[in-house]
Amino acid sequence: NRRVVLASRPHGVPTDANFRFERQYVPTPADGEILLRTIYLSLDPYMRGRMSDAPSYVPPYEVGETIGAGTVAIVEQSNHPDYQAGDWVVSENGWQDYALSNGRGLFKLQGPVLKHPSWALGLLGMTGFTAYMGLLDIGRPQAGETVVVAAATGAVGSVVGQIARLKGCHVIGIAGGAEKCRYAEEVLGFDACLDHHYDDLGEKLKRYCPDGIDVYFESVGGKVFNAVLPLMNTKGRIPVCGLIADYNSTELPNGTDHLPLFQGAILRKRLHVQGFIITQDYAHRFDEFFHQMSQWVAEERLVFREDVIDDLDNAPQTFIGMLEGKNFGKVIIRVATDKP
Ligand code: NDP
Repeated sequence: NRRVVLASRPHGVPTDANFRFERQYVPTPADGEILLRTIYLSLDPYMRGRMSDAPSYVPPYEVGETIGAGTVAIVEQSNHPDYQAGDWVVSENGWQDYALSNGRGLFKLQGPVLKHPSWALGLLGMTGFTAYMGLLDIGRPQAGETVVVAAATGAVGSVVGQIARLKGCHVIGIAGGAEKCRYAEEVLGFDACLDHHYDDLGEKLKRYCPDGIDVYFESVGGKVFNAVLPLMNTKGRIPVCGLIADYNSTELPNGTDHLPLFQGAILRKRLHVQGFIITQDYAHRFDEFFHQMSQWVAEERLVFREDVIDDLDNAPQTFIGMLEGKNFGKVIIRVATDKP
């Protein structure tokens, strides 16, 4: 069993030295236990937060322990009445080939989702759920309104924008680079997508949002947020989903303190700004999401792009790259094939 442990806590941008590969025997399931073989491993930006020991909504990863993560796995051996060898499940194996489970927290994959088992980590799993709830429950977009989506081609953003289009909104994405922007417009069907690498992002945004912005789905922060804020309409909504531009920061940025500007805008425009943590705020609504999303998938109304990288060996570099925008779509590590 190969596993990747957190060797040390990153300071700033993570490096290879923060990760260590180890080998162990494949564990044997006891009575009531299941042996799971990881097929797909989900890499997600929140993991950067758990590598630090700053207080947060979930405990940090322990140094020396296998890095935790959502996975899609196959039951290899079962001593549990509800599972049998060959079943596909969503589990929390973490960055390793095999893991034991007592069945708690497992989600069996059945029916149409088995056509794309890895989607249970994306479109039909944690990131799709995040897009769905953040946009619909906090953003509450109305037909004809303007919705701006950051990290627009990523796992969450691509789904936010497509749902907003389904709801009849004018959707502007913000993404890194011409290729991603073209994809957002031509494949995802956004009305436009702007490259955040250019200095005139604020100007361009103004041109593409002539009626201002009603909903800004925030995943990035930093200069993208600075460009959006002045264009927010009265009673606009900002679901604060993530702030990835700052995940590797070691100190607050120098220069102007933007807080008074932000608080002033909240006050004058009566903005609704709400942070949310999908697993903690919405777990009770997963079934509602899964039902609706499965229906949209069956009707082929959504496109979902994955960035699948083979082999656990590539997990650290792929993770580091994701925080720099090197991924194009939901990041999945294919740890093994589904053949025994
Ligand atoms: P993505 O697939 O969107 O990958 C991350 C993307 O972030 C990169 O591809 C890059 O896209 C963008 N990015 C990174 N750095 C910057 C930067 N400095 N400026 C602008 N864009 C940047 O990841 P996810 O869809 O999985 O996650 C998106 C966000 O949602 C993250 O902030 C994450 O933490 C958050 N999240 C929050 C949850 C919650 O419960 N609140 C649950 C799940 C995710 P590009 O090249 O286009 O800039």
